[in-house]
Amino acid sequence: MQHLSCGFCNGAMETREIPVYNKHIGISLVILGLLFSITLVGIFMGVILLGCGVYILVSKKNVWICNECHTLLNKA
Ligand SMILES: [Zn+2]
Repeated sequence: MQHLSCGFCNGAMETREIPVYNKHIGISLVILGLLFSITLVGIFMGVILLGCGVYILVSKKNVWICNECHTLLNKA
């Protein structure tokens, strides 16, 4: 396993999976998508919104996080 020291406090850093996008935006899009899908004219728009919302909710990225000061570092 790879180890990294924090650049600020020299503490141990560990990898963690965090959501890439704001969860609230994803949930809003899913709800909006469902509302659009109810109407026949909005179903195409609804499916797109729903797809975007789900994509936002499931998107994750790996980052380094410091145990001491919780500094986030993007993993290359
Ligand atoms: Zn630190």
